[in-house]
Parts: sequence; structure tokens; C-alpha cells
Amino acid sequence: MTRTGLEAITGLSRPTVAERLAVLESAGLIRYSSKRVASGGRPARVIRLNEKARLIVAFDLAEEGCRVGLTDLRANLIEQVLVDTAVTNGPKAVLKQMIAAAQDLVAKCAPDCPIGGIGVSLPASVEYGQGRSVGWSVMVGWDGYPVRDHLQQAFGVPVFIDNDVNLLVLAERHLYASEFEHLLFVKVGTGIGSGLIVDGRINRGAVGSAGDIGHTRVSGYGDPVCRCGNVGCLEAVAGGWALARDLEQPELSPAEVMRFMRRGDANVLALMRNAGRALGEAVAFAVSMLNPEAIVIGGEIGQNNDLLMAGVRELVYQRSLPLATKNLVLRHSQLSQDGLLAGAAFLAVDELLDPDRVDAWLGQ
Ligand SMILES: [Zn+2]
Repeated sequence: MTRTGLEAITGLSRPTVAERLAVLESAGLIRYSSKRVASGGRPARVIRLNEKARLIVAFDLAEEGCRVGLTDLRANLIEQVLVDTAVTNGPKAVLKQMIAAAQDLVAKCAPDCPIGGIGVSLPASVEYGQGRSVGWSVMVGWDGYPVRDHLQQAFGVPVFIDNDVNLLVLAERHLYASEFEHLLFVKVGTGIGSGLIVDGRINRGAVGSAGDIGHTRVSGYGDPVCRCGNVGCLEAVAGGWALARDLEQPELSPAEVMRFMRRGDANVLALMRNAGRALGEAVAFAVSMLNPEAIVIGGEIGQNNDLLMAGVRELVYQRSLPLATKNLVLRHSQLSQDGLLAGAAFLAVDELLDPDRVDAWLGQ
């Protein structure tokens, strides 16, 4: 955009825009392209984000293993490495491995570029303002551990932590769904969760647990016992672990369940239809509450799973009012397995470059 364009879009005066641009330029965050464009008067230079000015470190911590990635300020992945670990090793041991891997990666790929910030995806509910996971989750031993403070001390830069589904919806929107201001992402993997974009921003609710639909109750499915201790939770019917349980092979991973499905195993096909309808009940309720423009389904079980999608579609159209479904888009996620790294990086970039915070970040 040109300086005149920035003045028009922000409504700020010419001196104010010039002053703000000087701050960003001295921080190396913008560059002027050699190309000039017509702007009424003499041709103007185009101002661009200098995405190479800082590195973002992105962590995608899963139950078994952690991906560590480096990106630029547009969340383009530069390099990544997989750390072999398990969350059950506890926060101190796992964070130590994550920090060492990130430092090695920076030293190898971009030793001269300063780290601007860090984004972290956790497979658990996250109390967003505090940067830690809270309550029951697969992250046994992490309840209340100050993950953000630990990483902030190690790297000396701002750290932002969110649960995985919020980061999936963020990545999906940035990369493939920027036309939607109201987007619901449903992740079906071992467990089930959802993330929500409202008015173009992640909606976390009061403390960060919005969208936790995996532990809402679905009736008429036999009230199986859930991992959380309750009975009849959605994920106890339709989550990957529940499908494996129903196949009487509880050790099956979501990927293995999907392999059976693709082979046409009749038991799995029947279970998947059932799971799709249970999921559809919960999603239909969410549609009535939230009126999203689009619902995207992803996760290891949900990705490109037409059977599951059919159940969701059936129930959503059956249960919701016509106004809510009139222009509703239902589709599969387009994210690759790097989706969470991208989401974690987008989280950090969005927070660092937020107009209300960028001054603090740049030490102004
Ligand atoms: Zn539950």
C-alpha cells in the first residue's frame, strides 16, 4: 500500500502516518518496494511488510511428540523439526527438549535473524490470559503449569499459547477461508473440539474454554463413559478413541481407524455413520447458537471424511432453522499436517502486530 493509501484507510493525518511509518521502518518491519504506482500526483512508492525482519518460533505440542517450526512474519514455514517426546513426561522435561530443539533450529537456519515472538499450540484447554492449560486434559501433570512464563524466560520474547483447535481455525481462515467472518472449525481426532472465529477474530469466551463441544452430552447413544469421567459425552461416541473402543481394538490410533474405513470395513462404516450423526447433533446446536457462515471439519478422523460429513449435514439441516442454513457452507479443512505450526505462528504475528500492542513490542 502507498502512504496516501494508508492515510485514506486509517483516517490518520499525513504527519501521523509518517511518524508511525518511521517507527516501523527503524524497527526494520517495513520496506519500500522499488516499484512505484500512480497515486494522483507523482508516482508513489509501495510500502510492504518486511516479513524477514523477525523469526517466529512455532510449537505444535501433541500427546506424542512436538513439532518445532520457524516461520517469517507471514507465517511462511522456513524449517521444522520433530521432537520425540510425550506430554506425560511432564512440563519441565518436555519444555527443556522444545527449547533446545528451537535453539538448534535457529542456529542452523537463521542465526542472524532475531526472534520476534513465539506461538504455542497445546492439546488442552488453555486459560488464554494466563498462558497455561487448566483442568483435566490429556496433558497429565501440566494443570496450571506456567508454560508461557517458562518459555518467555528462556527466549526473552513475547509468548502466546492457545489450544490446538483455536489455532486450526485461525490457520484455516488466514490461508483458505479469509472470506468468512464467522467460521466454526470442528476437529475430530482422538478427541473432539471446536474453534470459532466471530467478526474475524478468535472467540475464546470468558477465559478460553469456548468451543469445547467434545464434552457436551449427546443423548440416544447409550451413555458411554468418557475419559473426563462423565457419561454420554460427544467424544465418547464419536472421538477416535471411542471408535477404537467400539471396534474392540482400543489401541488403534485415529489414522488406523481411518485405514479400516478406507478399506470398506463394514463395522467401521456403520460406526462412522453413527458418529457423524452424533457430531451433527452437537454441531446443529452450535449452528443455532452461533450462526456461522461456514463450518469446516478437520482432524485425523474428520479430514476428508465424507461419511462423517454426511451425518453432520443431515442433522444440521434437520435441526436448524432455514435462516441459519440458507447460505451455510459445510466443507472439509484444507490444512496440511503443518496447519498447527501455521496457526501458532499466525497467533504470534497477529498479537505482535496488533495496533494496540506493536509499540510495546518495539519498545516505544
Ligand atoms: Zn467427556
